[in-house]
Amino acid sequence: MESQVKAIQHLIDEGALFVINHSGGKDSQAMTVIVRTLVPDDQLLVVHAELGDVEWDGCEELIRKTTAGLPLIVCKSVTDFWTMVDRRRMFPSPSNRQCTSDLKRGPIEREVRRYLKANPQFNGLIVNCMGLRAEESSSRAKLETLKVSARNSKAGRNWYEWLPIHDMSETTVFATIAQAGQEAHWVYAAGMRRKSCAFCIMACDSDLKRAAELRPKLYARYVAKERELGFTLSMSRRSLPEITGIAA
Ligand code: SF4
Repeated sequence: MESQVKAIQHLIDEGALFVINHSGGKDSQAMTVIVRTLVPDDQLLVVHAELGDVEWDGCEELIRKTTAGLPLIVCKSVTDFWTMVDRRRMFPSPSNRQCTSDLKRGPIEREVRRYLKANPQFNGLIVNCMGLRAEESSSRAKLETLKVSARNSKAGRNWYEWLPIHDMSETTVFATIAQAGQEAHWVYAAGMRRKSCAFCIMACDSDLKRAAELRPKLYARYVAKERELGFTLSMSRRSLPEITGIAA
């Protein structure tokens, strides 16, 4: 841990650009609070991938409000969730998260490469910060918290991946947001445990049920798509109405 603190300080001293991947969720928000205590504002960039109607309202507004003073890029994929599903003739799966790679990671990385090129003061040095936490799943618990991204590094560009709040508990995440005088996205108070796509392929049953109550029109669209494709959104192979008990 001490060596990681030193490595991060070294990257700050070297003048690296720290990119905050912000979904509008609590983890991104707490991560932003923590990173801002370590990294000077002029070495920070916030990026957000806008997902259209599958997202919750208010993400961009919350990000703008809580990252005031920092440059923000909102990017969008050339395709959207529904087009992607129609092409695949099935929903993405946790083992093949095309939704994440095509709708979030790809557009964000493209914008970051552009920003780095337009801002030579960072000498091609980048630290990509993500709010993944060990507590969320056993696979996330095993992730390295600081590593070189071989995929994104090349001659003249050194790209690191950093998970600044990997060991933070959910309770501490909310406490960090509150201590910063901020409020988390409204969906948590509305009963959602996670704020991802309203109907995420990896959501728990209770989040799917609550999302169906909060977004009935969008829910109906997912249910209709399940019927059309003959595939369920959930990997449990139970249809949305079976999971939620709500007929569309
Ligand atoms: S939140 Fe869930 S459904 Fe949305 S892009 Fe991420 S993994 Fe896919």
